Amino acid sequence: MRVVKVNTGTPYDILIERGLTDNAGSLVKSVTNAEKVTVITDSNVEKLYAKRVVSSLESEGFDTSLFVFEAGEKQKNLATIASMYNHMADFRMSRKDIVVALGGGVVGDMAGFAAATYMRGIDFVQIPTSLLAQVDSSVGGKTGVDIPQGKNLVGAFHQPRLVIIDPDTLKSLPQYYINDGMAEVIKYGCIKDIGLFVTLETENALDIIEDIIETCVSIKRDVVNRDEKEKGERMLLNFGHTLGHSLEKIYNFEGLSHGQAVAIGMVMITAASEKAGITEKGCVGRIEALCKKYGLPVSDTADIAEIAAECASDKKSSAGSVSFVLLKKIGESFTRKTPLNDILEFISL
Ligand code: MG
Repeated sequence: MRVVKVNTGTPYDILIERGLTDNAGSLVKSVTNAEKVTVITDSNVEKLYAKRVVSSLESEGFDTSLFVFEAGEKQKNLATIASMYNHMADFRMSRKDIVVALGGGVVGDMAGFAAATYMRGIDFVQIPTSLLAQVDSSVGGKTGVDIPQGKNLVGAFHQPRLVIIDPDTLKSLPQYYINDGMAEVIKYGCIKDIGLFVTLETENALDIIEDIIETCVSIKRDVVNRDEKEKGERMLLNFGHTLGHSLEKIYNFEGLSHGQAVAIGMVMITAASEKAGITEKGCVGRIEALCKKYGLPVSDTADIAEIAAECASDKKSSAGSVSFVLLKKIGESFTRKTPLNDILEFISL
């Protein structure tokens, strides 16, 4: 088994091995004295893995309950969170009890947020089942929920006690969702690891997915260890995301997946920075080719002025500017503040 150790306020392990889902009970037992466990999942993942996880927890003596909500980003709202609280309170969860988040990014974000706030915070364990959650969102302790005014506008930093990654769960994932996660994998290569980028160019990522997952979570671990609350270096993880989020907003979070939006965002911002002479020549061509290799789009027809306007209203903009993550070259990134009035000119380059 591969173990990646995270040294945030409360240290925890990320475990990676095929078939780990079936050992969920004993693994959760190793990090808690809880009597009760609430497994939170969505209607898609329930059919695939809930039974296995619940029976594994029960066989370790946990009093276990299951909370299922309808799959999809639309359910990522405060009403769903409220029903999680009601469920946990009715099940008489105490402060020493524990939540297990079983599913993709939406499940992890919301179950984590419910755990962060129920009784002022109880422990939780992540069992991410999508590639995006396994390489990215299950690590780092960001939890949250959408409100009508914006995505993830309400949330908390709350680190899991343990992350259990079973790459076998990817076998049940439609290709669309594999591609979605690959955008974040490519992002890690771009910002921090030329070796990873070259591996993605020369091999088929799915053939060596355990290595890929371990590399990505190790990069994220290193960044989060140095900057848990996103005051500096952690912002590098937003490469391609500022423009990507703008596109997601323009399309109302429909029709374009997060990964697709990030892929377009990475290509757009690097095309601009390469033209501005900031990024080494040839980078955007390689990023474009790699995104295409993994089934991701590299351009969009949305109006560039509209994209710029959405950027300016991004929740991460402050003091009249937006911090774009740019590449010096592949594997080396930095942030650069761009005044709101200059965004359009920069991305139109
Ligand atoms: Mg992302």
